[in-house]
This record gives sequence, structure tokens and C-alpha cells, in this order.
Amino acid sequence: KAQAAVKIAKCSGKVEIYRNGVLKEAQRRFSIESRLRDALAQGGLSLAYQPLIHLHTGEITGFEALARWDDAELGHVSPVEFIAVAEESGLITPLGRWAAYEAAQALSRWDARFGQPMPVGVNVNLSPIQMARDDVASMFEEALRYSGIAGHRLTAEVTESAIIADPDKARKLLFALKDLQMPIAMDDFGTGFSNLASLHSLPIDILKIDRSFVSNMLEDRDKTVIVRTILSLAESLNLKVTAEGIETQELAHALQQLGCWQGQGYYFAKPMAEQDAFDYWRARWNFETV
Ligand code: C2E
Ligand code: MG
Ligand code: MG
Ligand code: MG
Repeated sequence: KAQAAVKIAKCSGKVEIYRNGVLKEAQRRFSIESRLRDALAQGGLSLAYQPLIHLHTGEITGFEALARWDDAELGHVSPVEFIAVAEESGLITPLGRWAAYEAAQALSRWDARFGQPMPVGVNVNLSPIQMARDDVASMFEEALRYSGIAGHRLTAEVTESAIIADPDKARKLLFALKDLQMPIAMDDFGTGFSNLASLHSLPIDILKIDRSFVSNMLEDRDKTVIVRTILSLAESLNLKVTAEGIETQELAHALQQLGCWQGQGYYFAKPMAEQDAFDYWRARWNFETV
């Protein structure tokens, strides 16, 4: 076997390097899948919560729940990587169910600490694959009922690709979520094939402008034009806008001046553990953060 490998390498070093790369990638993907399966079964994942800030009042209006995974063997794995593996392997269904329940449970634990329902909600990300395969509406209904949380406090973050993949199914799902009083946000807006007609006909409440347009908007005029265009489109369609990836005060100020409703980014806060997010909110509620 080793001799064969040497021969192949001699014949074509490039092919061998390529084969090694593909093999390593397949091995990594395989170990992520099997470790992720265990982590899901054993409670090895957590959610981090990143504040969403009202740009005009500085109030914390809610948090986005972002999956986190530190594995004993693999170390910290980015959600960009393990969500992709979960989507390919079918694990996105149990992962998505876990995230919805965990977010609703976090809200009920926060409410218990606060002594009454907190005036904030949590955003939960939905994968297009999860939306295609699972009954997401009954998943949320059960998570809300189980946790005793009002539907208006869980926002569903969906992407344009889920709507393009199966418009009829997406339409039914979004209206079912509205029946639960859940707000709906369009995530990563601007990066997909935005169908303006669907924005108008679907019950979408919020557009989240992708970080790739926001973060260097002040240096890149084209980006500023895109952000302005999204803001005026949102205004005419009566949608609220959240800007992602705000890393500086200048950017927060510029977006506020442009009339953007809400912001999210490292300038305000990074995603935090459940307890820290509560403390962060508790220390600031009724006070200004901008
Ligand atoms: P997303 O939904 O667009 O989430 C926003 C991402 O931007 C998060 O990355 C967040 O940590 C990051 N971010 C926020 N502010 C800043 C900033 O100022 N600068 C920079 N550089 N980044 C910022 P994260 O946590 O790595 O998540 C990546 C993606 O993974 C998410 O993008 C989402 O698509 C996916 N994801 C995470 N958790 C879940 C989940 O529970 N379910 C599903 N389906 N997808 C998830
Ligand atoms: Mg999101
Ligand atoms: Mg986003
Ligand atoms: Mg994004």
C-alpha cells in the first residue's frame, strides 16, 4: 500500500497532493458528523446570545441565539462548519429542534430570574434543509407550550434560499408561524436571489442586512448605496431593518442616521453565554447603551 502510494506520488505528485487534501477533508467531515451526533445526544452543544440593539434608544430589544460547540477531541468548531455538516447529514433536524427548545427554555429561565416576563425575545436561526424536512411550525408550537413562552418572543430567522427552494411550503410555514404570533426575519438579506415579490406577499417583519454589506460600508460607496436601497425598500414595504456586523461606533451612528431600526455586532457585544447575557441585559435595562 505504501509502495503504491510512493509510485503514485512519483507518477504524479500533484494528483497525490490533491488526493490527500480530499481525504483529509472527508475524514474531518466524517469525524465532525460522528462527534456532532454524540454531542446532540449528550447535551454537548450550547447557545450563545448576541444582543440586538435599538439604534435610536439604545435599548436591548432581544438576542440572536447562535449555536456553539466545544468538542473534547476537535476543540472549538465554528457553526459555519458544523451547521453545513449537519445539513448534509440530516442532523440539522435534531439540531434545529434542540435550538428552538433551548432558546424557549432560556427565556423561561431568564423570566424566572427576573421575576416576570422580560421585555425581550430571542431569534432562532432556521436552516432551509430543516424547513424542507421537518414540521417547523409544530416544533415551535411545542417548544413555546413546553416553556410557557408567548409566541411573539421567539423570532424565526429564515433565508431567501429556503423560500426559493419551495415557495408553497415556505408560504404555509411562515403563515403558520404568524398564527403562533412569531415575528419573522429574513436573514443575510442581499446575499441571495432576493425575490421582491415574495417580500411583499409573505408575512416578513424584519430584514437583516448581511454583514458583508454593513462592515465596510463607510469605506465602500457601493455598499453604502446597497444599504440605503435596502432601507428605502424596507420603508416602502413597512419592514423593520436590522444591520449585522456593526464593529465601530461610526458605523452604529451612520446606520442610525440612515434610519436603520436595529443593530447587532461586536461594537455592542459579542455572543454571550446564557447567564452573561441575562446579566448584560439586567445591568442595562432602563439605561442607555448607545
Ligand atoms: P448568522 O445567522 O448570519 O449570524 C450572525 C453571525 O455573525 C454570527 O456568527 C455572529 O457571531 C457573527 N457576528 C455578529 N456580529 C459580528 C461582528 O460585529 N463582526 C463579525 N465579524 N461577526 C459578527 P456565528 O455565530 O459564527 O454563526 C455563523 C452562522 O451559523 C450564522 O450566521 C447562522 O447562519 C449559522 N448558525 C448559527 N447557529 C445556528 C443555529 O442554531 N441553527 C442554524 N440553522 N444556523 C445557525
Ligand atoms: Mg441569523
Ligand atoms: Mg445573519
Ligand atoms: Mg450573516
